[in-house]
Amino acid sequence: MRWAVPTLRNMAEQKATNITWHEGSVTREERQNLLNQKGVTVWMTGLSASGKSTIACILEQMLLHKKKHAYRLDGDNIRMGLNKNLGFSAEDRTENIRRIGEVAKLFTDAGVIAITSFISPYRKDRDAVRANLKANEFIEVYIKVSLEGAEKRDPKGLYKKARAAVAAGKGMGFTGIDDPYEAPEKPEIVIDTESTTADAAAMQILAHLERGGYLTA
Ligand code: ADP
Repeated sequence: MRWAVPTLRNMAEQKATNITWHEGSVTREERQNLLNQKGVTVWMTGLSASGKSTIACILEQMLLHKKKHAYRLDGDNIRMGLNKNLGFSAEDRTENIRRIGEVAKLFTDAGVIAITSFISPYRKDRDAVRANLKANEFIEVYIKVSLEGAEKRDPKGLYKKARAAVAAGKGMGFTGIDDPYEAPEKPEIVIDTESTTADAAAMQILAHLERGGYLTA
């Protein structure tokens, strides 16, 4: 017997039949009132070592101090669980982001402030997540750093590894080195981490949430 290798296309397509969306009787407004906040997805994108995880952790703490319910979805953590069967090919990267987008949507619907920190290098994948959420429920935050700046930080030694792989003629498909990063064209927030501290970056996002009325019912 031959097994069909799942491709991205058949992974993402609707397989189950005879299913109907079941509307619950608890409304979104009731959930908002319960939590005194509005659900939203704060989507951070940027090169590896740009500071996404660092800023996401600080933002989550700041929100907690304000008694706001936030939850971080973070690159490596998701890849160890939900997405452990996905690698770094272009197709797998797309499926990785699609699944995270669906999870973020569930958190958002539950009234939580979902903070995602994934490189999410391809514009079309991020735009698909945006299109799957309501207009005011997706805040794209471009965590900006130059490639040189990211390579200087290199907290996990990944750039060094990627450069060595390229020099050895193998390549690694590492974003910024031998795989593209497509910066957002119209992000809601841009933070240049070479001129802004991580604390100031988190404050900037918090202020955006406050101004947008997300921190009240
Ligand atoms: P990412 O999640 O984008 O891969 P990390 O947050 O894991 O990035 O790592 C970023 C590294 O850069 C950390 O070691 C952090 O301390 C450092 N760093 C230096 N300046 C900043 C800044 N302004 N904002 C965020 N991180 C910074």
